[in-house]
Amino acid sequence: MYTFIRDASPPCLALRWEEWTDRYCSGDKGFRWYSPKCYENVRQKLFDASLQHCAFCDGLTGAESRQTIEHFKPKERQAFPELAFHWQNLYPCCDRCQSEKGNRYDPALLNPDDLEYHFDDYFVANYLTGEIEVSPLASAENCHRARVTLELYGLNLDIRTARRKREAQLFQRRNPETELLDDFSYRYFIKNS
Ligand SMILES: [Zn+2]
Repeated sequence: MYTFIRDASPPCLALRWEEWTDRYCSGDKGFRWYSPKCYENVRQKLFDASLQHCAFCDGLTGAESRQTIEHFKPKERQAFPELAFHWQNLYPCCDRCQSEKGNRYDPALLNPDDLEYHFDDYFVANYLTGEIEVSPLASAENCHRARVTLELYGLNLDIRTARRKREAQLFQRRNPETELLDDFSYRYFIKNS
């Protein structure tokens, strides 16, 4: 996970999120974006801020995965329906992270736009296996938060570890001195590879 620096909410959402929240919370129908155009604006704004990376696995979206909007706190009625259209609750997310997490939530989950968040406080990269491991230096609380985050987003599934190793090799084969780190997936993993 890489720090995500959030921009201001797009005007269409800032203007209508409260109305849409009321409509969703008081209606009997499921969640939907009441304006597909605004959904597009929100998605674009989130992915522009993340430079097209998923805020959770840091994979580049587009070629291998679809761009989706993740509700960090689930929008279901029994969870956090009041945050269904809340800008601070929306994140750029790849479809794999989205489907791994589903509507699960744990208060210990690491939040990528927490400015206090630093990868090294929680994790270490294992370049042999491609796994992200819990840092042996992490405090007990940080260990717990790291474990929860790895589990909920499925960050050490085989497909993830294989892709991380492949991306690190690709980065090394190019010239790491001149390549732009942001053009690669899993920046936290490959930057020290
Ligand atoms: Zn992802």
